[in-house]
Amino acid sequence: MSTTVRTRFAPSPTGALHIGGARTALFSWALAQHFGGTFVLRIEDTDVERSTPENVAEILDAMAWLKLTHDDGPYYQMQRMDRYREVIEQMLANGTAYHCYTSREELEAMREAQKARGEREKYDGTWRPEAGKTLPEIPVGVQPVVRFKNPLSGNTSWVDVVKGEISFNNAELDDLIIARPDGTPTYNFCVVVDDWDMGITHVIRGDDHVNNTPKQINILKALNAPLPFYGHIPMILAPDGSKLSKRKNATAVMDYERMGYLPEALCNYLARLGWGHGDDEVFTREQFVEWFSVEHLTSSSSQWDPKKLNWMNNHY
Ligand code: GLU
Repeated sequence: MSTTVRTRFAPSPTGALHIGGARTALFSWALAQHFGGTFVLRIEDTDVERSTPENVAEILDAMAWLKLTHDDGPYYQMQRMDRYREVIEQMLANGTAYHCYTSREELEAMREAQKARGEREKYDGTWRPEAGKTLPEIPVGVQPVVRFKNPLSGNTSWVDVVKGEISFNNAELDDLIIARPDGTPTYNFCVVVDDWDMGITHVIRGDDHVNNTPKQINILKALNAPLPFYGHIPMILAPDGSKLSKRKNATAVMDYERMGYLPEALCNYLARLGWGHGDDEVFTREQFVEWFSVEHLTSSSSQWDPKKLNWMNNHY
């Protein structure tokens, strides 16, 4: 691999930085460091109801405490709205996206009918332009959404650096809404434009995003943008195998700072949770960077073990 590796961490500031997010950041940071590349920080703050400046500050503090220093950014999606609109205009002009005037009520009725017929719920393509097709008359006073013209056939596949080959049938993917009636871009679209503009070569993120990846790949292809490598890491589970929750465990990184843990110990522990280098348990940050490779990220979920973290902390 060349030294042009560019990775990113893209938290949504809808809460504190939690240990799962910190581990994602740690792996992305280590990958860039290993190859002498660039680690980009991007704040995905488009959920205006739930994003707060306090959460942004908290995430930045937690990253600094863990010494996961970014080389580029932070970029804020809310400051990039003009760019997203520009790309949407280009896609409308070149026919890879289209205006859809189907109302919310019509969409609901469509979904109900599909459900009743036992079919997959999906936009029926009424406003999707095709050669030789006459579109309905544009209704008066309806603000359209913009939809991406997703391929109708074939598969969208990628070799996930953590999970191996993953494939989705395009016929099962919807024509994704990329702009709402008020013109604001939607989540997956912003991610695509950002990863493209920021030259991201490797996307390491939680596997709750696997279903977003084929949507993002299809839009990147329509933009003639290079595709990054994707690696989806499984969640960290609670010691009893259930979902990690604030009620049962401290989940915010800064909780560990307040409890007196050492950032080196937490990083070392997080690194071992889902990645391995032989039998090595305790290692320095420099060794971690030197040894890091995505091939050794594990595809099974890991369990949070406070006793092991304590053991690790006592070794520093
Ligand atoms: N903002 C997303 C999250 O916090 C991450 C998106 C991504 O990594 O593509 O879950």
